[in-house]
Amino acid sequence: MAARPVGWPTAETFELATVEVPAPADGQVLVRNTLMSVDPYMRGRMNDVESYVPPFEVGGPLEGGAIGEVVESRSPRYAVGDTVLHGLGWRDYALLDAGSAVRVDPIAAPVSAYLGILGMTGLTAYAGLVAVAQLKQGETVFVSGAAGAVGSAAGQFARLLGAGRVIGSAGTAAKVAYLTDELGFDAAFDYHDGPVARQLRAAAPDGIDVYFDNVGGEHLEAAIASMNRFGRAAICGMISGYNDTEPTPGPRNLARLIGWRLTLRGFLVRDHGDLRAEFVERAGRWLADGELSYRETFVDGLPNAPVAFLDMMRGGNIGKMLVRLSTS
Ligand code: NDP
Repeated sequence: MAARPVGWPTAETFELATVEVPAPADGQVLVRNTLMSVDPYMRGRMNDVESYVPPFEVGGPLEGGAIGEVVESRSPRYAVGDTVLHGLGWRDYALLDAGSAVRVDPIAAPVSAYLGILGMTGLTAYAGLVAVAQLKQGETVFVSGAAGAVGSAAGQFARLLGAGRVIGSAGTAAKVAYLTDELGFDAAFDYHDGPVARQLRAAAPDGIDVYFDNVGGEHLEAAIASMNRFGRAAICGMISGYNDTEPTPGPRNLARLIGWRLTLRGFLVRDHGDLRAEFVERAGRWLADGELSYRETFVDGLPNAPVAFLDMMRGGNIGKMLVRLSTS
């Protein structure tokens, strides 16, 4: 990261640096990265503020989820050729302590799935519905950012977990069609087509019971306005404000929480590791049975990683945005 962005990151935020890769020491492995993830939370780490993860340092490398192949090993845990998942993306080669990598099975699923639907992304959607919103059979669920990585998983999981009606919002007509035609959402709308509150009310005339929030802002206010008594919102992300230079005003209708006994609950996927085994088992079965599908948007080459990140922040992706790295 060459400079801290103010507002939207630009080309000046990033710099491609070439450095000598040290040989692994005892207990370390050298990994040739083949895929890396770009995620909205990375924008928060570009700010110098206290958060749940330390900020990136100016002049230091960015980090993030990545998959790669072990090319040198000085650990008995890994052999050359093993495929591993780890947290040192944004580089072609990663030098890792063996304990900070996890082996993944490239036969069981395409490796990209471990950065998306079967990985942190999928678990976020699952934990948000099951543990945070405590979705019950027959309930009406609204998901914002619904054609993105987490949102497309959340909408499908809601259906598979027995929701009565699933509604999604997204930023283009093509995304809206994807939600209803391919992912089984009962209704969807483009939030550019009119006030979210009005469109949500039309899609859910009987109100919503659960809101899975990826967006915040106008979406959150609209969801609160449409919530039925004892409704719950899993506050997963608020991407509409991540590049704001001033905090945006909160929802104007919070008083509704009282009369309607609503719950808004923020969460982090990292607190829900206890659900991982159950999640992988269920999601793996849904995938195998053809009940769950996913898309990915790929960008090629480390030099294009900043473009991929910015494209994702602007809605250029359907499903998970990933960067293919090619150092072979
Ligand atoms: P996505 O794949 O959903 O990509 C981001 C999407 O956000 C874009 O495709 C775009 O789609 C949408 N978007 C951008 N700006 C706006 C806006 N102003 N209003 C509405 N939508 C907008 O990313 P992820 O699935 O990785 O992440 C989704 C959310 O989940 C983020 O808020 C992220 O921070 C959060 N998250 C939280 C975690 C946790 O532990 N709490 C873990 C992982 C993610 P469109 O074309 O529809 O606008």
